[in-house]
Amino acid sequence: MRLTIIGCSGSFPGPDSPASSYLLEAEGFRLLLDLGSGAIGALQRHAGLYDIDAVCLSHLHADHCLDLCAYYVARTFHPDGPRPRIPVYAPAGTASRMAQAYGLAEPPGMTEAFDFATLEPGTRQIGPFQVTTAHMNHPVETFGYRLEHGGRSIAYSADTGESAALIGLARQADLLLCEASLLDGPDLPANLHLTARQAAQHAARARVGQLVLTHLVPWNDQVLTLAEASEVPLDGPVSLAASGRVIDLG
Ligand SMILES: [Zn+2]
Repeated sequence: MRLTIIGCSGSFPGPDSPASSYLLEAEGFRLLLDLGSGAIGALQRHAGLYDIDAVCLSHLHADHCLDLCAYYVARTFHPDGPRPRIPVYAPAGTASRMAQAYGLAEPPGMTEAFDFATLEPGTRQIGPFQVTTAHMNHPVETFGYRLEHGGRSIAYSADTGESAALIGLARQADLLLCEASLLDGPDLPANLHLTARQAAQHAARARVGQLVLTHLVPWNDQVLTLAEASEVPLDGPVSLAASGRVIDLG
């Protein structure tokens, strides 16, 4: 299972990264986890535009889903004709939200380009991946993910405040891709995002093999993000996500 970080900028794109998007590959199957602003551009450095087999969205905040509009254009209006539908696993209401975002009448909205499947908490098979989802702690319905293949596992926090469900999802995963939107400070908002320290505490409780901090907000000093997370004793290494970084879990 191979992870390519397409975008890891939190809440809006940064100078060096699109907003959230991650490419997971196994057995030639390519799954895109989130499609935040700008992701379709950077994706083309790592995969053919039409080589994606499935899309999974964590939630409907713009920085996690809005490049589905760009991908709709790319799949629908190619000079050689529309590309076949691919599945999009996403929260309830995604098909209508995306149609509205692009100004499309429903039906069909984007349903001729994408086969929308409504996510529920639980486990399903998507291509070669066993995919488990759970509700996170965020103001809109948000799913964290655990993807497993060939005895390897990657967990993804999406956006979340402190969450016991995230610890369950990440339990002994080889890698936890965890948001670290906030730095330590007074009056932090509750039930919205994690600090880098909280991300590391979740990783420690879940006993993950390695922690990769993501959803890095451009106004933060990421040296501090890594330093604050590094103060928490962990079973394995902690590092920062970066657009273009590839992690091969074998
Ligand atoms: Zn969000």
